[in-house]
Amino acid sequence: MTIEEIQARLCYYDRRNPDGYIEFLCTQIEMDGTIERELSMLTDGRRQGCTCDNCATGRAELAEIIMAYKKVTDFILSTIENRLTKNNNQC
Ligand SMILES: [Zn+2]
Repeated sequence: MTIEEIQARLCYYDRRNPDGYIEFLCTQIEMDGTIERELSMLTDGRRQGCTCDNCATGRAELAEIIMAYKKVTDFILSTIENRLTKNNNQC
């Protein structure tokens, strides 16, 4: 599973969710021309009072941990790959 796939499963109002927040804001702009009200309801990328599974049950916390581990493992793997490539080019 990629980081983007994990982010797509975050809260609909989470700014990192590529399928949720931006589309939602665009809808609000089309409806009443303002986004200030919606922006004022967001805290740390989440909507206050949101009752989705991520916000209400804390499932986003697991996604946050997985994304952090994935970034670390991706960095380690790319570092190893770069070192191996560098060593192979020197032979
Ligand atoms: Zn939510």
